[in-house]
Amino acid sequence: MGEQWGFYFDPNSCMGCNACAIACKNRHGTEAGHVDWRRVETVSTGEFPDYQETNVSLSCMHCEDPPCVDVCPTNAIEKRESDGIVTIDRDECIGCRYCGWACPYGAPQYGEEGLMQKCNLCLDKGPGAGADAESKNTQDDPLEPACVDECVGEALHAGPIGELMDLASDAAARKFEQNPTSVIVEPQTGEEGQAAANVETPIPYQG
Ligand code: SF4
Ligand code: SF4
Repeated sequence: MGEQWGFYFDPNSCMGCNACAIACKNRHGTEAGHVDWRRVETVSTGEFPDYQETNVSLSCMHCEDPPCVDVCPTNAIEKRESDGIVTIDRDECIGCRYCGWACPYGAPQYGEEGLMQKCNLCLDKGPGAGADAESKNTQDDPLEPACVDECVGEALHAGPIGELMDLASDAAARKFEQNPTSVIVEPQTGEEGQAAANVETPIPYQG
């Protein structure tokens, strides 16, 4: 398979403004208040006076071994050989929702038209389509995903996993320089996996 593409998210730079989620909705025209391909959640840790809140921007993780692909009865979900992006072909989807139940992140969303849809790394601008897209926002076309484009804190990045790992390592090094006693969780990746954010709190997050 070609090099895996994915997201890198740095919670230390996220201010929880929801610009990423709104930009995604705008670009893809998803249903208001019903379907969210990207969402921002707040994770609370500790107790007063050590209470801490961390914002986490979540979408499909384009998993290394996606359970949504395994459960789809019509093979409507594909992990692309070229870049590892996971897409839903809505011509094949029958709206059974198995993928939504199988996904640990609740990424596939059930739309009003009775089909599933989710983040396709802005392969195209149509809700949920992607399997048949001829191009993606790639190598040939520098168009960034909407969430990355509009992120106010520059907390979100997308690209080949090697580049994302470099970004994560640089962010970890900067964090360590600011506070040498902080605990840095090194970026993790499977063989074709996803870069994980460098965080100081024990949040199990891949992006
Ligand atoms: S829909 Fe869920 S299980 Fe499937 S690739 Fe995305 S995050 Fe992974
Ligand atoms: S990459 Fe595109 S589809 Fe995916 S969350 Fe970002 S804006 Fe939405």
